[in-house]
Amino acid sequence: HEDYQTVDHDVLVIGAGGAGLRAAIEAAGDGVRVGLVCKSLLGKAHTVMAEGGVAAALANVDDRDSWRVHFADTMRGGQYVNNWRMVELHAREAPERVKELEAWGALFDRTVDGRILQRNFGGHRYPRLAHVGDRTGLEMIRTLQDHGVHAGIDVHMECTVLTLLTDGGRVSGAFGYDRERGRFRLFRAKAVVLATGGIGRAYKITSNSWEYTGDGHSLAYHAGAALQDMEFVQFHPTGMIWPPSVRGILVTEGVRGEGGVLRNSDGRRFMFDDIPENYRPQTADSEDEGWRYTQGDRNARRPPELLTRDHVARCIVREVREGRGSPHGGVFLDISWIKDRLPNAAEHIKRKLPSMYHQFRQLANIDITRQPMEIGPTTHYVMGGVRVDGDTQMSTVPGLFAAGECAAGLHGANRLGGNSLSDLLVFGKRAGEHAARFARTNGAVSIDGAQADAAARAALAPFERHDGAEQPYHLQETLQERMQELVGIVRTEREMREALGAIAELKARAAHVGVRGNREYNPGWHTALDLGHLLTVAEAITRSALERRESRGGHFREDFPEKDPAYADFNLVVRKGADGEMQLAREPIPPLPAELAAIIEEMTG
Ligand code: FAD
Repeated sequence: HEDYQTVDHDVLVIGAGGAGLRAAIEAAGDGVRVGLVCKSLLGKAHTVMAEGGVAAALANVDDRDSWRVHFADTMRGGQYVNNWRMVELHAREAPERVKELEAWGALFDRTVDGRILQRNFGGHRYPRLAHVGDRTGLEMIRTLQDHGVHAGIDVHMECTVLTLLTDGGRVSGAFGYDRERGRFRLFRAKAVVLATGGIGRAYKITSNSWEYTGDGHSLAYHAGAALQDMEFVQFHPTGMIWPPSVRGILVTEGVRGEGGVLRNSDGRRFMFDDIPENYRPQTADSEDEGWRYTQGDRNARRPPELLTRDHVARCIVREVREGRGSPHGGVFLDISWIKDRLPNAAEHIKRKLPSMYHQFRQLANIDITRQPMEIGPTTHYVMGGVRVDGDTQMSTVPGLFAAGECAAGLHGANRLGGNSLSDLLVFGKRAGEHAARFARTNGAVSIDGAQADAAARAALAPFERHDGAEQPYHLQETLQERMQELVGIVRTEREMREALGAIAELKARAAHVGVRGNREYNPGWHTALDLGHLLTVAEAITRSALERRESRGGHFREDFPEKDPAYADFNLVVRKGADGEMQLAREPIPPLPAELAAIIEEMTG
């Protein structure tokens, strides 16, 4: 037994991306003692990578926009299995949160009359994404950090939380280690906010960074919280595919928002070939109309490239499967063609999409102002996550809150682009506010040392395994390959059964994982410790995906290709059973209040 370094907070926020920072700022503003933990250096969270923008019905570019339209768009994008209360709060509060960010110093791109400029994105009826070129996340993180610096938050950088601690059914803190020296740290807290982001690293091809191993999902699950909607994983249609070293890196939807088009090897704009019925009335029926839409013509309808991500990704898979793909197994995304329409096209592209221009120049030796890009789908975002109360963001475990990508509900079966950054702000704030309130109104917690000791022993066990031990990287890679192959964009019962078998086998092997060296900055050890989270998340995704015998949003079953109304009124929820096994249940979605139902009726009717 070693003496752990112990720290005390009222509210502990795990994760320093947009959701975590916003939660910490709010909680600190309430006067409670706040700690903020993150795996890497502050400012390096995933949020910094966000490109396209933050969705909010400011109605600066099109005055027909309103929270009601944003509400209806988000529900339709999520195929109506969203937590409608969250969708309502998000649509109502996003504009306020964006203006607040501006008041804190964020410099958004401007309209000619000096208001926040908004751009088009898939599934949003009007131009709605406030942005800073294609580096919106960077500006958001910078602003939140600058603001947060003055809020008296204790920051614990390069520290990974391994497990949550509980006290009589209530959360009481967390236990982790500092990555640099490998020393354990014990956090005592009256409330904990999970803001750990997504799960992309459960797949081989992903836009997500190394940090996205589903830790928050898994921490919550093992602490007894329910997860929901885990079958809904978003595969973004446009990731880089060539050269192999950059495979998966995101190509922002902003490229299509600015007029970029998708073509197959025959040069055909194949997105015109398959437009879903419920989007047909709002989709352009000629290339010319689509172009006019991207240039702000209010009477034009959007091009089919801006249909929802799940649909675009599947169309790309179809083109490739049917032999009309690009040389490296994707399709072409072309923005250079706009030189036929715009006098200063090259300058325009460089100004609107500076990161994309540099990304392709440097990584693929492609000049996007003159050449098409080769792209294909990449695992991007998880709609599923911790099941929370829509107003407070509290999970099913008292005192445990979740916000941002690791929480579920807002996006239903499919997230619209831009709705994540706004999610972080709206629900990060709410989680921080309610966690602080919980901490103030509930008494002290006590720490059960045995829980921490057990976690410490489990974490150190890999150092004691040598001969014949399993390699952490090898297991991680195998899991990623199996998930990519068997539980990816197109799913079948047979393949997912095979995946469950593979996961069970990998779980057994993970119990024998061994690492060399010592505890000081040991990446092999870190990988061994992440493995458990990845396996938990992979199992939750696969079990839920097997149970949903229909296709909806991000979840597509080749054996059940249609949407089935029998699956429209519940969420799939996983919990850890008393026997330690994963259990699946159907939780009914409460009926939509008349006022909200009327909005949907009006917008889609
Ligand atoms: P993150 O920003 O990922 O932060 C997670 C934090 O948790 C990190 O600090 C991490 O270190 C910490 N953490 C994780 N596990 C642990 C642990 N065990 N212990 C301690 N700390 C831990 N969305 C949009 O709305 N618009 C966009 O334009 C957009 N573009 C995107 C572009 C890219 C390339 C990617 C990958 C995503 C994009 N998204 C976009 C999605 C959006 O960026 C993410 O969903 C969002 O940033 C997630 O924020 P978060 O606060 O939930 O988590």
